[in-house]
Amino acid sequence: MRDRVVFQLSAPYREPYTLRALEFGSGGPTVAIVAGLHGNELNGVHALNLVASALRMARLNGTVTLIPVVNTFGLDQGTKRWPIDDNDINQAFPGDPQGSAVQRIAFALLDATQAEVCVDVHSGSPLVDEICQARVPLTGREVGLARAMGLPMVWRREGDRLEATGLVGAWRERGVAALHVVGGRGATLDLVRSRQIADGLLRLLTEVGVLRFGMEPGKILVDATRRGVAYHYSSFGGFWVPEVAVGDRVAAGHLLGTINEVVGGSLVEEVRADRAGVVVTMRSYPVVHARELLVRVAEPT
Ligand SMILES: [Zn+2]
Repeated sequence: MRDRVVFQLSAPYREPYTLRALEFGSGGPTVAIVAGLHGNELNGVHALNLVASALRMARLNGTVTLIPVVNTFGLDQGTKRWPIDDNDINQAFPGDPQGSAVQRIAFALLDATQAEVCVDVHSGSPLVDEICQARVPLTGREVGLARAMGLPMVWRREGDRLEATGLVGAWRERGVAALHVVGGRGATLDLVRSRQIADGLLRLLTEVGVLRFGMEPGKILVDATRRGVAYHYSSFGGFWVPEVAVGDRVAAGHLLGTINEVVGGSLVEEVRADRAGVVVTMRSYPVVHARELLVRVAEPT
């Protein structure tokens, strides 16, 4: 393993910003995996370290570059964005070597991830729990790669995260297979989901031929397009009490949770599934305002 500093940026009154890459193997095929682009999304950081420990003991047929943390200053301070100017590194691509700090970091990260298959790992927000999922376009090589990962959800969708100002969009602009992986919630270490993401990444490395692990295939619960996912929002503010958890199967009409008065607990609203499916997103922070996302239910495979 090679632990390489791929970029540094001096900081006004602390150690310089340092972007580190762990590199394994040599030659092709090439895979780059990034986490911690958002400083408070920690499941991916742990997942990449689990992958690193597996790769240290494996014989590789190809090259794997792991970048477990990009927004190191945000990680220090528990913030999603770059703390100095509150910019989102994931909106700064393709970056600029003469630009602001986040633009320089974006430029260096894109340069350090020149691989045939690229993966960017995120968590949900600190308020929301997400099933482990690979988000990919409707068609193309990424769909097969996402299914090979065997995470509980494959979500084929156009739209957000595909614009070239985001890392996944910037990779696609370059013509490489790019996957956007999401699992768990921000500001939390979820050991089960970190392990699921790590296993998915090892299956991906097996699929592209870098590893020859005999891994069990993962169980895909949902393989959906946007139309296959129902969104349930709050109609009123209050105290959200879930009745189901991420990964549960529900029938149409099943009680997903209730919104209650914060003081006294009187029922304000019942939220019921409008179709049968699997709970893939759950609001985990109980205090909600009107029109906030509470639950997503997706059609099972
Ligand atoms: Zn994120």
